[in-house]
Amino acid sequence: MSFGTRHTASSQTDPVRGIGAATNWIYGELQKIAATSGGRMTVEIQSYIQQPASRIPVPTEIKNVIATLRGSSSPDRIYVVTGHIDSRVTDVLNFTADAPGADDDGSGVAAMMELARVMATRSPEATIVFAGVAGEEQGLYGSAHMAQIYKAAGADIQGMFSNDIVGSSTADDGAKDPHHIRLFAEGVPTSETPAQASTRQSVGGEGDSSSRQLARFVTDVASNGVTGMTVEVIYRRDRYLRGSDHISFLQQGYPANRFTEPNENFAHEHQDTRVENGVQFGDLIEFVDFDFLGRVTQVNAAALWSLANGPGTPKSVVIDTTQLTNDSTLRWARGTDPDLAGYEIVWRPCTEPEWTMAIPVGDVTTATIDLSKDNVFFGVRAVDRDGHRSPVAFPVPG
Ligand SMILES: [Zn+2]
Repeated sequence: MSFGTRHTASSQTDPVRGIGAATNWIYGELQKIAATSGGRMTVEIQSYIQQPASRIPVPTEIKNVIATLRGSSSPDRIYVVTGHIDSRVTDVLNFTADAPGADDDGSGVAAMMELARVMATRSPEATIVFAGVAGEEQGLYGSAHMAQIYKAAGADIQGMFSNDIVGSSTADDGAKDPHHIRLFAEGVPTSETPAQASTRQSVGGEGDSSSRQLARFVTDVASNGVTGMTVEVIYRRDRYLRGSDHISFLQQGYPANRFTEPNENFAHEHQDTRVENGVQFGDLIEFVDFDFLGRVTQVNAAALWSLANGPGTPKSVVIDTTQLTNDSTLRWARGTDPDLAGYEIVWRPCTEPEWTMAIPVGDVTTATIDLSKDNVFFGVRAVDRDGHRSPVAFPVPG
């Protein structure tokens, strides 16, 4: 993607250089991909004018490119994958210097586009959205706008992944780790209300946000010999001093995670392209490990495809606390997936990070397990007729 710079304040109209040319190119490529989908994928540019704000000195058009592959049987259930289009150098307001942004975030945009290309000719049960989002480096402006529009429309987004800096497996000390990918997953939800905090303080669950359940699901389906990758879930929202577009979705209460390479080289991120004391600085394409990026894309594919062809995450899941008992009764609302087969109660000791036990309970909306809710964590997940499972829903007391 050789557009010189893709800085948010660079030219919107120059046909070869700047954010406008890059955005138009992505739009054109996604339209070609959509043409292979039999009309099921649509592509739009979603834009608004951002008035002067932090890192935005003048009114600036923010343009996301969004390709939506409509689900065949549960189209209202949505999964989103993004990379960010824009790039930067050392000075975040410098919109004229070359800012190649190969890893940050050409890698994420390339992964997003390849996922769109591969999936466009196939037919997932739920809807998958592939998006290039804008204005990330200036403050997550494009993804914030996108997530707000979804929220205002009542969109049922059950999982979102930001791919941001996913193109290199080599650390700044030269160490290589080409078969690991980090997945950042928050514990206490960004969108938590005071009432929800009070419940969590009372009975726990700080490791059981919907984003943690999503991350556990990704590990289950994508950390294996087929992808050639181990997904390393990191129990925090993002790295120190950093953020990405998943935060925009977390702010709206949607489950969201961020993929990032295992070890970064900070001389290659947010730097003016230059040589100092024989060291090359800058986010150049020569530092991208394309085999690694391909495997990261396979991890995304396994996660998205398993989510979109499995049943939706159970809703309105409650653990009965109307009286003190030494067994545990859970209730939930039956899902609407046409191929829904039933449910499993999962549980684990409170000190375990992963669900360790699963009990099939059939196509019911309540079940009682002969274990004390005081001593373990419970969850509920759906199962379809093909044996696909949903992410787990963690119950609230009720
Ligand atoms: Zn980035």
